[in-house]
Amino acid sequence: MPQEHIDTLIVGAGLSGIGAAVQLKKNCPDRDFAILEGREALGGTWDLFRYPGIRSDSDMYTLGYASRPWAEKKSIADGATILRYITDTARDHGIDRDIRYAHRVKRATWSTADSCWTLDIDKGPQQEAVRLTCNFLYVCSGYYNYAHGYTPDFAGIEAFSGRIVHPQKWPTDMDYTGKRVVVIGSGATAVTLVPSMTDKAAHVTMLQRSPSYVLSRPAEDRFAHWLNRYLPAKLAYGITRWKNVLLGLLFFGLSKRYPGRIKKMIIDGVRSSVGPDCDVEKHFTPSYKPWDQRLCLVPNADLFKAIRKGKASVVTDHIDSFTEKGLRLRSGQELEADIIVTATGLDLLALGGIEVVVDGKAIVMKQTMSYKGMMLDGVPNLAYVIGYTNASWTLKADLTGDYICRLLNFMTRQGLKQCIPQRTDMSIKEESWIDFSSGYIQRSLEKFPAQGNKKPWRLYQNYVMDLFTLRFSAVNDGTMVFSKGSEQ
Ligand SMILES: Cc1cc2nc3c(=O)[nH]c(=O)nc-3n(C[C@H](O)[C@H](O)[C@H](O)COP(=O)(O)OP(=O)(O)OC[C@H]3O[C@@H](n4cnc5c(N)ncnc54)[C@H](O)[C@@H]3O)c2cc1C
Repeated sequence: MPQEHIDTLIVGAGLSGIGAAVQLKKNCPDRDFAILEGREALGGTWDLFRYPGIRSDSDMYTLGYASRPWAEKKSIADGATILRYITDTARDHGIDRDIRYAHRVKRATWSTADSCWTLDIDKGPQQEAVRLTCNFLYVCSGYYNYAHGYTPDFAGIEAFSGRIVHPQKWPTDMDYTGKRVVVIGSGATAVTLVPSMTDKAAHVTMLQRSPSYVLSRPAEDRFAHWLNRYLPAKLAYGITRWKNVLLGLLFFGLSKRYPGRIKKMIIDGVRSSVGPDCDVEKHFTPSYKPWDQRLCLVPNADLFKAIRKGKASVVTDHIDSFTEKGLRLRSGQELEADIIVTATGLDLLALGGIEVVVDGKAIVMKQTMSYKGMMLDGVPNLAYVIGYTNASWTLKADLTGDYICRLLNFMTRQGLKQCIPQRTDMSIKEESWIDFSSGYIQRSLEKFPAQGNKKPWRLYQNYVMDLFTLRFSAVNDGTMVFSKGSEQ
């Protein structure tokens, strides 16, 4: 049977995949595309995660698409509102009809002779084998394993008589009314869950090995509301987006330049909100510098207010083992619990776990180098989206989409079939993908490509630099090698 061929296949119908489809539809109308989504629903992260309080930790004026103003009141938005924004975008552009649900891409095999990718896909619950071919593969699969989160090996976990939950698989029947809850973790998920669960729980304890920087920001952006009163929605959104991009860059730059002063500012902020009974030195003062790991943002100081009211508390200690009634800590303290939430992170995964093969050779992620943070050395006609670690994901996703549309249009105009970033300058040194010291990044580095120390192999965690790299730079830059395929 002849295989179905589609010009561009997007993997993933999350925030990035829907955004990529909008850009392709608008800027490359002569190319057909489809979205292959492994799950039965669109929205990715914002559909999968259902724990209490699930929300963004960056502002929606930068986490939203450049092309679609964020019109909701809250700038730090809850998961359901973000999911609606993605769903509305897909519906308004007619992209919902281009999604093939329950299509999980397992393998992508490139043939230079045919100038095309062949995708092996598991379809539906029966995992029926399906094959599709495409000219260009655009992987918008996020950065973590959808099958499960990360849980360390805790000693004695089977002894616990209460309920253990991972935030990635929040049970629909979870009732925590009047329960004693311990949330293990100190990242974005833990600081979201702790104040949210105080609505019904008897008490919520955040148990962390070491503290993170936690910064409070207003949930609403009054400047954006003010602009909206006087300016057209698109213009007001654009200005607020740029304001937030620049403030974010400024804050990141100042943190790197004056870590001591920024550290003091953050810790002073915690101290003024959390009340006199909390040991800020112990629970909110990290040993590393600001932005050596991702900062945690809490809207309207909700975490600090919950602690001040005595509804939540923080324990900084190591887990010795689970016990029947809760947890035994290294200090000897026993923490009793009815429910333990393991907010211990994600299992990071590159390219949605797709096995990539180029002309019979399997691509090993850690041996490749990323080109402009969105293509791979020696891998033709394939791009991927990975957002910023220090700013909103969509800022990079939007720029990547702009670049891919320019690249595809350039190839159409020139009658080219193949584009392949090729590292010929061997003086370029390999550096790790991200310089964060966080455990979850360190244990996953080898699953991701390296970056180089010079452009175009350098991964800028900087929107303004990427504007030049991705939006304004020439597509034909001497590193990208083009060909007309076997017809040339
Ligand atoms: C709880 C949580 C909160 C977050 N908050 C923020 C925030 O505030 N700001 C921010 O910038 N970032 C945040 N992030 C990062 C977040 O993932 C991105 O902002 C954004 O949602 C990523 O969108 P995406 O479409 O690239 O990936 P995802 O949302 O992960 O969607 C990927 C989609 O691809 C599908 N897929 C994956 N592999 C395959 C495959 N092999 N075949 C077929 N389909 C596949 C998945 O099923 C999924 O639908 C958060 C992440 C989490 C987990």
